[in-house]
Amino acid sequence: MWFDHFRATREQLAAQDLLRQLRVAHGGTAPRQPVASAGGAVRELLMFCSNDYLGLAAHPALAEALCEGVRRWGGGSGASPLVSGHSQAHEAVAQWLGGAYAPHIPQARALGFCTGYMANLGVVTALGEAGVELFCDALNHASLIDGARLARAQVTVWPHGDVAALEARLRASSAPRKLIVTDGVFSMDGDIAPLPALLALAEAFDALLLVDDAHGLGVLGQQGLGCIEHFGLSSPRLVLVGTLGKSAGLAGAFVVAHQAVTDHLLQKARNYIFSTASPPAIEHALLTALALLAGPEGQHRRHALAARCRQLREGLTELLQKHPELPWRLTDSTTPIQPLIVGSNAEAMRLAARLEQAGIRVPGIRPPTVPAGTARLRITLCASHTEADVEQLLQVLRDAASEAQMAEPEGADA
Ligand SMILES: *Cc1c(COP(=O)(O)O)cnc(C)c1O
Repeated sequence: MWFDHFRATREQLAAQDLLRQLRVAHGGTAPRQPVASAGGAVRELLMFCSNDYLGLAAHPALAEALCEGVRRWGGGSGASPLVSGHSQAHEAVAQWLGGAYAPHIPQARALGFCTGYMANLGVVTALGEAGVELFCDALNHASLIDGARLARAQVTVWPHGDVAALEARLRASSAPRKLIVTDGVFSMDGDIAPLPALLALAEAFDALLLVDDAHGLGVLGQQGLGCIEHFGLSSPRLVLVGTLGKSAGLAGAFVVAHQAVTDHLLQKARNYIFSTASPPAIEHALLTALALLAGPEGQHRRHALAARCRQLREGLTELLQKHPELPWRLTDSTTPIQPLIVGSNAEAMRLAARLEQAGIRVPGIRPPTVPAGTARLRITLCASHTEADVEQLLQVLRDAASEAQMAEPEGADA
């Protein structure tokens, strides 16, 4: 029975162009990497798929700090944080984060988690107790959705970015405690949540505002503290989740919030309480990563990254103007996530394969990661991409657009 089920599921996914495939990376997160094809031949691909936006994962100071951390602390943490897993290195990272976010969150404290997925699950379930109503943006990350599914709270979804719709739902709610939940930078669209308006609603309706800033941290704000710094927000109602495996170049995640919130999480977040703390060596290296991210080197890299984003955005805009016949479109993104929405799953995968033939890897993204009919190439940029790299991508896309135009059957209008 089981194996029939596995086969049927696989066939069904394949028929919808939805099969997922595991690939082996040979070159870390570098923009140019040797990649083995199915036949075994190895060739270099130019990658536009990493979330290591600042290129810090390959920074020699991080490798050095990791080695130093391992020499000092050895391997794993050995226990959950509340037992004996919370080392001085964990505490130092929490102190750094509490200090960094103090201008934005009064009495800011930080709690560390092993991954962003875990942080979101922990904070949404711990705050989303019975009696609470969660208000979730329709395009929230899967980990926030899973947290909401696991929470005892009532869940209300509002249409993506629609502040008026959220306000109507808040007004209609009789829940004594309300939690607004949103991505800071949406992971598949690259647009930034309207946080000032969301915070104003949180204040008006006595709610908390949970922001998952996995893609804003390191990228937005003068010091790279993310969308909260970008908008200059300050409120005890802010609950911020940041991930450290993306632009911080390492691994892990944190929740920063007013101490009353983090105290509650410490008592109630089951996956904080019942899961082994991250290896202290990682935490030791995170101090170096965060200092790089927030300091002059981070600023310099953010500057380079912003220039590449503008270049790509301008190139894509021009390309779409030249090809009004194609159903391709861009999102409202000004961040390093620059998706090219093409529509069907088959077309997204065809285009991804076309790029790969030309030596460029951009992942095709399909439902359920994105809504049906909005399959896309999710192009992400890093500070380590050069102007020539971006131009190479644009040229291949221009060629692909011309081919698509020629391939279109006469008289076709869809
Ligand atoms: C990647 C991501 C996460 C999960 O973080 P991990 O540290 O990779 O588990 C959470 N939220 C968003 C929006 C993400 O893009």
